[in-house]
Amino acid sequence: MPRPRSLIVSMEITVAGSSHNCRNNDSHRIAKGVKRLTIKSDGDKQHYCLGCAKGFLVKDVERLRAILAEIESGAPPAAA
Ligand SMILES: [Zn+2]
Repeated sequence: MPRPRSLIVSMEITVAGSSHNCRNNDSHRIAKGVKRLTIKSDGDKQHYCLGCAKGFLVKDVERLRAILAEIESGAPPAAA
């Protein structure tokens, strides 16, 4: 039986081990010990401040909802 696949497995909230800039905006400083969003992509880890992360997530949730709506309005699912 196939396992459900997660599309957001490469995304997690982590704590900054040292202070650094947000990958999305150099003027966003992430201080040591502060939570941030880490995205693993091609073996690379990209860190974003929570403000940017929230913006990404809001857009992605909208997109997921739109895709889900399209699926639900389409053909019935294959018989199990
Ligand atoms: Zn940011």
